[in-house]
Amino acid sequence: MIADNLHTVKQEIQESCALVSRNPKDVTLIAVTKSVDSLTAEELVKLGITNLAENRVDKLLEKKESLSQYSNISWHLIGNLQRRKVKSIINHIDYFHALDSLRLAQEIQKRASHKVNCFIEINISGEESKHGITPDELLSFVHELADLSNVHVVGLMTMAPYDADDESIRSIFATLKKLQEKICSLKLKYAPCTELSMGMSQDFPLAIIEGATYIRVGTALFKKG
Ligand SMILES: *Cc1c(COP(=O)(O)O)cnc(C)c1O
Repeated sequence: MIADNLHTVKQEIQESCALVSRNPKDVTLIAVTKSVDSLTAEELVKLGITNLAENRVDKLLEKKESLSQYSNISWHLIGNLQRRKVKSIINHIDYFHALDSLRLAQEIQKRASHKVNCFIEINISGEESKHGITPDELLSFVHELADLSNVHVVGLMTMAPYDADDESIRSIFATLKKLQEKICSLKLKYAPCTELSMGMSQDFPLAIIEGATYIRVGTALFKKG
């Protein structure tokens, strides 16, 4: 079942890349395992998946522990992170996808023992329920991170609204890409900002068309039937 799902997702990645002449190698599939147990996650690892994501600190630590024999897994924390939890998680992850405040960045600076790859989360749709800074805040936020040597801004992340039509979703992803290119063009050492984390089960083909380099897929990999 999971093997079939993975096959389908990979095929869709290839098809979307083909539409815009992109190399599928430039799109990293992150499997979001928040809805499944460690054994199910392990099935994916055995099928060759090396990027796993959780949106909760305790769940990530639990999975990482049970899959500790696989040393080639990159761990992604994709959910909102409370400052009081930074200490317990920050040295156990390879990527953090939801940086959205200076105080959080300062806590990461204080607790991390190495540079942490971070995506700045942007709330483009303006939905109140969503985390992330606004596009208007991005430039000054990036400059505020300059002195935080453990915060390495690899790219930007966003989530499109669930109920939006394809046109609006594409426009949100396209906006994120413009913002990413703008930060990238500043050529800041601490913020290369070359990556785009966007696209989930229902919209990753659109995200790839608009330039996603990391897609975060859960349901499509684990659905039954
Ligand atoms: C759950 C989650 C995903 C994956 O969502 P699916 O619709 O299951 O693919 C991606 N990104 C974030 C931030 C999530 O919380």
